[in-house]
Amino acid sequence: MTDLYAVFGNPIGHSKSPRIHLAFAQETKQDLFYKAVLVPLGDFKKEAERFFKHGGKGINITVPFKEDAFLLADERTPRAQRAQAVNTLMRLDDGRLLADNTDGAGLVRDLTINHQIVLKNKRILLLGAGGAVRGVLQPLLKEAPACIAIANRTVSKAQQLAADFSDLGKVSGVGFDEVNEPFDVIINATSASLSGELPPLNPTIIHDQTVCYDMMYGNAPTVFNQWCHVNGASKTIDGLGMLIEQAAEAFFLWRGIRPSTSELMNILRNERRTD
Ligand code: NDP
Repeated sequence: MTDLYAVFGNPIGHSKSPRIHLAFAQETKQDLFYKAVLVPLGDFKKEAERFFKHGGKGINITVPFKEDAFLLADERTPRAQRAQAVNTLMRLDDGRLLADNTDGAGLVRDLTINHQIVLKNKRILLLGAGGAVRGVLQPLLKEAPACIAIANRTVSKAQQLAADFSDLGKVSGVGFDEVNEPFDVIINATSASLSGELPPLNPTIIHDQTVCYDMMYGNAPTVFNQWCHVNGASKTIDGLGMLIEQAAEAFFLWRGIRPSTSELMNILRNERRTD
């Protein structure tokens, strides 16, 4: 019988997850179907329980339900427990729900393997302090950077996150106006790019070897990546690779087989150029 998977979110219309997972299934010869589900705000628990009651095997979760999914789970992987927000749920054989957060693994894999960027001893600046940053902090700190600064519009959220993860490495939480010194890697995890906005950044944060990464992706370079390029960054990368890698990690959890990602990455990038 065909196994059923889905991505739950709101909005969900432009999700590339069905496309990605169906390509993985085809490549690895797995009999599964994967669909996007628009979940009304406040209905995550009800809709997820219904999906699993009807035999669904797993869900990916996107904005704004990652904390709801964390709470629904019966069991959590250590990285999900740390993040307190999850993007993957899996129904175990006994019916209990296992939660994982594959965002951080996806980001680190895209940076270090696909783009060959060394994070060890590097100074990292994370912009934003929402669910995405919660998910990536532990995997980034595992790479042993020199330090991570979290800068956010609501400074208290950045400070809280820094406190929550400070046992794993050197992490600080600050406001945008406090970051002026140069960083080696700057990761935009604010949702400002979604509305074409840019956080108030000082160009002095960029030096000629700085790599800039926007978790957002689209058909054209994001405003953040354009700003980084104009201000002298050596490389700018968008979040398509992270999206595909976090999906591959979720697929591996569900199916026990790791799909290859490089060919799909090229296909989606080429499609984007012709959109
Ligand atoms: P959240 O809603 O949890 O957090 C949003 C963050 O953006 C907050 O820190 C918020 O600041 C900040 N923010 C929003 N608008 C502005 C603005 N105009 N100026 C400055 N800061 C702003 O979202 P997530 O953390 O879940 O997601 C963040 C981004 O990462 C989204 O664009 C999402 O699409 C992307 N993402 C990409 C993934 C991928 O695979 N490529 C995976 C996960 C996320 P404040 O706290 O002050 O409100």
